[in-house]
Amino acid sequence: MNPHSTFPINIAIDGPAGAGKSTVARLVADRMRYIYVDTGAMYRAVTYIALRQGLSPDDSKRIGELAERLDIVLLPDDEGQRVLADGEDITSQIRSLEVNRNVSRVSAIEAVRLRMADLQRQMAKSKGVVMDGRDIGTHVLPDAELKVFLTASPRERAIRRYREMGEAPLVTLDQLEHEISERDRMDREREFAPLVQALDARYIDSTGRSIEEVVDEIVEWGLKASRTISAGEK
Ligand code: C5P
Repeated sequence: MNPHSTFPINIAIDGPAGAGKSTVARLVADRMRYIYVDTGAMYRAVTYIALRQGLSPDDSKRIGELAERLDIVLLPDDEGQRVLADGEDITSQIRSLEVNRNVSRVSAIEAVRLRMADLQRQMAKSKGVVMDGRDIGTHVLPDAELKVFLTASPRERAIRRYREMGEAPLVTLDQLEHEISERDRMDREREFAPLVQALDARYIDSTGRSIEEVVDEIVEWGLKASRTISAGEK
């Protein structure tokens, strides 16, 4: 069925680090001809620029001010999307180990979250968006027509991230698993908009499942939600 014949909806995909959210979200967006928004990249962009300016990740006042004035643009491209901060392409820099290690502290700053959520809501205003993150279904887009909570076992998530590091990984698998668990703990325990499954989210554990299978399932739910809404509109 042609997705265009249905009513565009917003799809929120939340879950812990390394659960496959960005790969899955991008493929779902392609299949539904929707726009993909990687919100983690936005928090990473603020973190990278803050570290480069020599700010401490706990300096909530100055990092909050930075987040408010920083112009973050996500540009779709073949590999996912490019990330521009004040016009500078920082797509590869935001994936560094240093950013990994500090992003959860920066993301816990309320002013940073308020600003990012504001930008994310603007991006989703016209519907037809697949947005992945930690607080999309609970906080940023609580009215998203489809919410998914995607997870996998900590070991599997570490293995996936380890494979992404290519031939010369800079950390061991155990270190990576530890780092991912630590990031999850901080994301779950932060006071403002923590990582938690929305009550009305559908739960998917992708351990041992293929990406295609998970994508198929979400697209099917998405098309169903969109058909239900378009039927209600008539
Ligand atoms: O998705 P990714 O692993 O790139 O996200 C990096 C970090 O950004 C997360 O560990 C989390 O601290 C933060 N984040 C967040 N809220 C979101 C998306 C990401 O706090 N919606």
